[in-house]
Amino acid sequence: MDGAKGIVVSNGLDALCELAKFHRHRFEIPVIGITGSYGKTIVKEWLSHLLEKNHRVTRSPKSYNSRLGIALSLLEITDKTTVAIIEVGVGEMREKKKMIRPTLGVLTSFGKVHREWFLSRDEHLQEKLILFEGVTFFYPKTIEIGNEYENGILIDTENELFGFDFHLKDAISRQNVALCIAVAKRLGVSQQEIQQQLHLLPSIANRLENFKGQRGNDIINDTYRLDVETLSYSLSYQLQNSKGKKRVLLLSNQPDKELLSEIEKFEPISVFVHPDKEKINNLKNSSILIKGEHQDAKEWLRLLHKTKHQTYLEFNLKDIRHNIHWFRQQIKRETQLLCMVKASSYGADAQVIGPFLQEIGVNYLGVAYVEEGIELRKNGVQLPILIMNTEESGFEDCVNYNLEPAIYDLEQLNAFIRVLIDEHKINFPIHLKLETGMKRLGFEEEDIFALLSVLKAQPEVQVKTIYSHLAESDNESSEFTHLQFQKFEKMSNLLMQNLEEKPIRHILNSEGVINYPEYQMDMVRLGIGMYGIIENSFLRQAIGWYSQISQVKKVKKGESIGYGRSFIAEKEMQIAIIPVGYADGFRRCLSNGAGGVFIDNVFCPTVGNVCMDMIMVDISGLSDVKKGQKVEIIGQNQSVLALAKQMNTITYEVVTGFSSRLPRLYTD
Ligand SMILES: *Cc1c(COP(=O)(O)O)cnc(C)c1O
Repeated sequence: MDGAKGIVVSNGLDALCELAKFHRHRFEIPVIGITGSYGKTIVKEWLSHLLEKNHRVTRSPKSYNSRLGIALSLLEITDKTTVAIIEVGVGEMREKKKMIRPTLGVLTSFGKVHREWFLSRDEHLQEKLILFEGVTFFYPKTIEIGNEYENGILIDTENELFGFDFHLKDAISRQNVALCIAVAKRLGVSQQEIQQQLHLLPSIANRLENFKGQRGNDIINDTYRLDVETLSYSLSYQLQNSKGKKRVLLLSNQPDKELLSEIEKFEPISVFVHPDKEKINNLKNSSILIKGEHQDAKEWLRLLHKTKHQTYLEFNLKDIRHNIHWFRQQIKRETQLLCMVKASSYGADAQVIGPFLQEIGVNYLGVAYVEEGIELRKNGVQLPILIMNTEESGFEDCVNYNLEPAIYDLEQLNAFIRVLIDEHKINFPIHLKLETGMKRLGFEEEDIFALLSVLKAQPEVQVKTIYSHLAESDNESSEFTHLQFQKFEKMSNLLMQNLEEKPIRHILNSEGVINYPEYQMDMVRLGIGMYGIIENSFLRQAIGWYSQISQVKKVKKGESIGYGRSFIAEKEMQIAIIPVGYADGFRRCLSNGAGGVFIDNVFCPTVGNVCMDMIMVDISGLSDVKKGQKVEIIGQNQSVLALAKQMNTITYEVVTGFSSRLPRLYTD
């Protein structure tokens, strides 16, 4: 390089650290040092998220917490930075402290994760505390620090979280968030701003590959390296994301003493060393962490992965989070959010979406049938769940799984009360469905008095909410909608005036929130809007449907294509065969150019009839198309709405028509 100057140093790392130290000392900004046995990276990420609206945050990338990592992190501070957050790993604490010169600290955790959360102190704790000498730092109740550290501020998790709407249930996540809130407040972020950000806490993907495997397993693949530090991080990540599932660790070699003692901190956990095929195939509904040699891990992953299929659906969880947040901003803070996950969450798989929605903190879930509610419970969902259609045969399951039925007529109500009497239950939550114009299920106006007399006489049930449903919420100037609302208000007022409990009310679905926010009442019910497939430029389409070319073929003039020979080539052409058909949800009405796919961002219409498992498309307009090339059925070029129009139907029918044989992938 012309004009560049070089400095020869005896030790590259030392020199880099010196440079970082010098660089750090040029800035008079808050610098937060985070250390602890586990949870450092998550606290760093979450804290940064809470601060990002008020601050320009510079933070350590990934889990860079060695001296080298710290030096690189510090060197990222610029004139624009207003807060720096630096993660600090064990060892060489004095040198690290001199480099970082923290102005505030967080001690996330220490020692072993006991079931009863009791932790003791020893010399390793002293080592960690070197970082915070003379610096105010926050630490959780689970660490016993001793009185001599006057600069330590003890954070009581539940106290700190009081008044915040925060739904992560596991103790470690709650503790971590409480620490983040304490720091954010100290840096001047308001209660309200913190709350807003809490709705959107990011999950930490980092170097870990995360996916849903077969049989309800969640897989965390971390074949990166096997040492104490990375193992500890992965185990704590697993603990925080296991959603109450059984935790399993797969290793390719017997762990040494040091690793074993790290694993012990995370008991209860099942450890399998070099598991055979049968062991792996027996794993169910577990959170499985893979820390093994690459070659072994590849084989395990193959066994755990859902069957490979060239055609798949992809759901972008980040976009879903964005959409929900957008809807949240359209309604008042105190208005609750119920998410509809019926029909397997509009095809996205309720087993995945349910726990995901719980994690991001929605208030309620709703499904059509009791079986769907049970599925959610089996997948660790603890949120209240509204069941819209409950038949008598499902009442016992409602009680056993704590599922809250919608009640729409007196006969059904009496039957449910009989079950509750048998089960010795009182105050069981129910929801009243009122008929206001759909002419579907619901109490009519003339039923209200009879309904009230039952409700007042029977302590077995407690009305939690009253609701109705709009017939044309997608029409922004609908007189009928106003009439429906008035009717709902009148009927529900009558009920409320005569009930002791104070039920909450709701009538809006996704389009309703957009077109009639003034009718949001106490809760809104979000469905299709989560996936961003309504016409609204603020929402993001969270669904993709992709495949790949199985074969490329030349067709001569006069030759026919497919069943019934409905297409005859008028000239020589090239076609591609794609493994998707009406059995996947690509309907037969899309035959002969009524629909098509995108290859290389170019629309390729179908030629001939759509088959059960295949379609043929015209690729004459493209050069250089190859077998194996990616095909977009739904994505950036072709929206769900566009496909729905080609099929002459609505988006709801397209997404609930995705076949169960299509593997679902999730990105975050
Ligand atoms: C499905 C459903 C919703 C959600 O509707 P979207 O239009 O998908 O937002 C809301 N309320 C009831 C009663 C439903 O059945």
